[in-house]
Amino acid sequence: MNDSTILIVEDSAAQRAVLRQFCQNAGFQHISEAENGRAALAAIDASGQAADILICDLEMPEIDGIELINLLSARQISSALIIVSGRERSLLSAVELMASTEGLYVLGSLQKPVQESCFRQLLYQSCQSWLSSKRGGVKQTELQLTKEQLQQALNDRRFVLHYQPKIDFASAKLIGAEALVRLQTAEDDQLIFPNDFIPLCERFGLIDELSYQVIELAIAQQQRWVAAGLDLTLSINLSAYSFEQPEFSARVIALIKDCAVPPNSLIFEVTETGVIKDIGRALAILTRLRLFGCGLSIDDYGTGYSSVKQLSQIPFTELKVDRSLIHGICGKPHLQVIFESTLSMCQKLGIELVAEGVERPDDWRYLLQAGCNTAQGYLISPPLPEQRFSQWVAAGMTFLSQVGEKGQS
Ligand code: C2E
Ligand code: MG
Ligand code: MG
Repeated sequence: MNDSTILIVEDSAAQRAVLRQFCQNAGFQHISEAENGRAALAAIDASGQAADILICDLEMPEIDGIELINLLSARQISSALIIVSGRERSLLSAVELMASTEGLYVLGSLQKPVQESCFRQLLYQSCQSWLSSKRGGVKQTELQLTKEQLQQALNDRRFVLHYQPKIDFASAKLIGAEALVRLQTAEDDQLIFPNDFIPLCERFGLIDELSYQVIELAIAQQQRWVAAGLDLTLSINLSAYSFEQPEFSARVIALIKDCAVPPNSLIFEVTETGVIKDIGRALAILTRLRLFGCGLSIDDYGTGYSSVKQLSQIPFTELKVDRSLIHGICGKPHLQVIFESTLSMCQKLGIELVAEGVERPDDWRYLLQAGCNTAQGYLISPPLPEQRFSQWVAAGMTFLSQVGEKGQS
């Protein structure tokens, strides 16, 4: 981590000096400074690359923090962002949400005067999660994939699944996993993330073929876990575009029946319900899957893609609260109010609540005492390929020591 580069964007020279000292104390050596957004952009443009970590004040002359975030997003800068400001917590959270919606990786925000202990905690905990998400040979695509390349990848069956554990808070036991698809490149076996190909598959009309391949892989995995005596639910992401195919549910049900996997061990996750054109057709597909016994989950809850309206229309069995409402929740009373009312709503509706993107032990402890059902996030484990997932289970789920649990019985 000490090799990482840091850029401090802050108009007060005194504040810059304090932040530089904190970074040095934390073991960072490559630290640069800019006195406002314009100077920061000039430095980024001149060097041709952005720092690994960007510490950004909000109120600055010329280009302020908000505008800088917009401009960084337009340049597709992949720095991890720490926001510092003397303004109120709810305002900082709003800027965090804005920055993540714009596609930046937000480590968190700190109120001024910045406490060194809080600064260090944020740097260490979040940086480790961030770096672990960037490691593992995952490739950032510079080139947009073409329809032909994606079709070829489907023909060659180069899509693979990684599995991220889901943990029951009360017992700290592994209860399930989410299947997350990656594309293996033909040339060098590197992996490409779904955000770089799912929207393209949707645009090129290849998403159904991809969904069927993913479901086949997931069901085959579930068969192997059942055979190995591992009793887990397996969550599969579906694209809302698939709901335009009336025969979708029949094909999926046939696949599940063929493999004799218990339907109630599969959960289908749905995001972006807002793009569903024909709600009647989508309801026919989703209610059929639910009648067959599969679980239905509303993903990324709270991001605007999925909302309370969809909850009232579709028979969901699970709700996944998005990372933007979970990250740093232990220190954000206004997020706690939103979370606790969502939890109470879920309890009354008989829906399981999953907290997504749990990265910090203090957030885990808050969520546990608040009564949240299930946790998923880098604190527990990043998504892992099959073999490493099995090793992680066999090794006794190494995250438990971090959250002060005794371990599985
Ligand atoms: P999602 O379903 O909300 O999945 C969670 C994403 O958050 C995953 O990214 C996961 O790696 C990441 N994540 C998990 N824990 C943490 C954490 O603690 N911190 C942070 N910052 N991130 C965390 P991934 O694998 O890149 O997937 C991105 C999205 O792509 C998924 O979001 C899902 O919407 C979509 N996707 C993934 N697999 C499939 C698929 O098979 N079919 C379809 N249609 N969409 C998929
Ligand atoms: Mg999901
Ligand atoms: Mg999600």
